Formats: sequence, structure tokens, C-alpha cells
Amino acid sequence: KLQMREKTMIKLDDAYDENNIFAKILRGEMPSITLYEDEKTLAFMDIMPQATGHCLVIPKEPAVTFLDLSEDSAAAVMATAKKVAAAVVRAMEAPSFMMAQLNGSAAGQTVPHYHMHILPRHDGLELEFHARAPEDMAVLNETAEKIRTQI
Ligand code: AMP
Repeated sequence: KLQMREKTMIKLDDAYDENNIFAKILRGEMPSITLYEDEKTLAFMDIMPQATGHCLVIPKEPAVTFLDLSEDSAAAVMATAKKVAAAVVRAMEAPSFMMAQLNGSAAGQTVPHYHMHILPRHDGLELEFHARAPEDMAVLNETAEKIRTQI
């Protein structure tokens, strides 16, 4: 039998929830470890990383999934992802990296504000579980500093 974890359902036709965790981060009501910010996007450390250097790029535009994102915001997210991914690769000395984004609960999305994951990959190093174990803040801050100096 399928074992499902207790979690909020995110559907493709959901209205935007102004109180989701990333909306709070954008309003400065929740802390985050910022890597990069511009007029349309924010990049910050994932606090439950699947790899050291795992970070997220979000649009400032309220959008639940890729389908809700304006083309303008989508372009801005990609431009920021390109800057940040290059910095992550340099900072983590990664031979490879992954970019991923999940749309809706059935795809594994857990936060209902669109986000692009950037994950450095190394040979033989499996990814940690998705959104499972919080990383030590000191480690996150140290990794963030390494990435920031490469942006
Ligand atoms: P997804 O499951 O694709 O919606 O990804 C959500 C990601 O956000 C997961 O990788 C979580 O580890 C991460 N996450 C959840 N809460 C926070 C937070 N407060 N700050 C940074 N990352 C978070």
C-alpha cells in the first residue's frame, strides 16, 4: 500500500496563498539566507538541502506553479538561475548540476510559490531526501558565503 506523508495539497488551479512561506520570505516576515536579489527575483539557500549548495530561485510575482508565471517573470527567473547556478558550480567545485521545479503535489511540490531548485552534483554522491532534514545554520551560512563571492 502507498504510504503518503501528511502534507498540504497543491493543485494546478489553486489561488495564490499570500501566507505561504516564500511569500513571507519576500515580505521579510521570515528569515532566509539570501544569495542574490534583483527587482523581479530572489535567490536563497534551501534550508533542507538535498546537496551542499542546494538553493532556490523565486520570482517576486505571486505564482503557484509554472503555469501561473508570466513570461516576463519566467525570463527573470531563468536569468537569475543562470547567474546563481554558475556561482554554485564554481563555489562547490561541482562537475555537474541539476535544475528542477515541481508543479503540484502529485509532482512533489511542497511550497505553493513557484521556485527553481539548483543542485550541484558530484559523481557518486546521491541526493538527500527531498525537504526532509534541516541543515545546520552555520553550515548553510558558510556555504552561502562561498556562493555569494562567486556571483
Ligand atoms: P518543493 O517541494 O519543490 O516545493 O520545494 C520546496 C523546497 O523549499 C524544499 O526543498 C524545502 O527544503 C525548501 N524550504 C522549505 N521551507 C523553506 C524555508 N523556510 N527556507 C528555505 N527553504 C525552504
